[in-house]
Amino acid sequence: MITVSVASGKGGAGKTSIAAALAATLGAGCLFADCDVDAANGAIALGARINIREPYFAGPGYQIEPSACTGCGRCHAACRFGAIEPVAGSRAFRIIQELCERCGACVDQCPTKAITTFEKQAGELFVSTGRTGTKLIHAELEPGEDTSGKLVALVRKRAAALALPEATIVVDAPPGIGCPVIASVTGCDLVLVVVEASASGIRDAGRLVELILSMKRQSVAIINKTGLNASMDEHARRMLAEAGIPLAGEIPFDPALRSAEESNRTWASVACGSSDAVKAALVNVMGVITTLKEKS
Ligand code: SF4
Ligand code: SF4
Repeated sequence: MITVSVASGKGGAGKTSIAAALAATLGAGCLFADCDVDAANGAIALGARINIREPYFAGPGYQIEPSACTGCGRCHAACRFGAIEPVAGSRAFRIIQELCERCGACVDQCPTKAITTFEKQAGELFVSTGRTGTKLIHAELEPGEDTSGKLVALVRKRAAALALPEATIVVDAPPGIGCPVIASVTGCDLVLVVVEASASGIRDAGRLVELILSMKRQSVAIINKTGLNASMDEHARRMLAEAGIPLAGEIPFDPALRSAEESNRTWASVACGSSDAVKAALVNVMGVITTLKEKS
């Protein structure tokens, strides 16, 4: 089993589109782990149908039993997140669930043990099948719930449990370089870095590259949206070359690519001026995956 994490350091760089195109090209031999849990749109890109859905619990929630609350206010004073407020027309207090960070600090302060825990559903986990046979694991968080490395780790764990030994797992990592990205890249065999050929795209990809190098992960890159600014294209190539990351291909900016997913196609099957560049880049990435499989 080979795991390829697709990351960009920045939203809007084309990461999910390229991850979905790679997954569609791999077909039934691929399992897509959508770890971009704040914007899990891999299912849309792959035209997935949901087979299984199950609740996701991130940890205990906290609540105040009004009949046991004397209104002393100690919990209110102890909460550093402003998540406890008096109930209008009553002496009791209540916890504002959307603000509660589940630190548990209020519990120890309560003299009447009025604060208790309950299993709080933080979202749902889905197992789906895409139109090209790709299996997909993705999650949706309830509004107000934070992206967490824990949920990313759960998505990856479920993908690994479902994958056959010869499968390739394609992980769509979240943007940025925080904990959920680290959880998406940890233990993978290859990182596919998608660099948007823009000032912000190169800067954010550069920070991601530093992270990948510190984690000693093998990587390969695709520069997306080239042809708009020659100096930016060159800047992106130079950043990757200095980091020692091989370039699998460059995809020229093409508005037709943006409309591909709206018409239920991935970039691998859309016909436009950038099709050949997309296919060439994917062939090169597949070549790296094949070599990794031969070595494993
Ligand atoms: S668990 Fe922490 S954040 Fe939540 S209400 Fe209690 S003190 Fe505030
Ligand atoms: S500490 Fe306990 S009794 Fe006091 S206000 Fe909070 S919940 Fe009520």
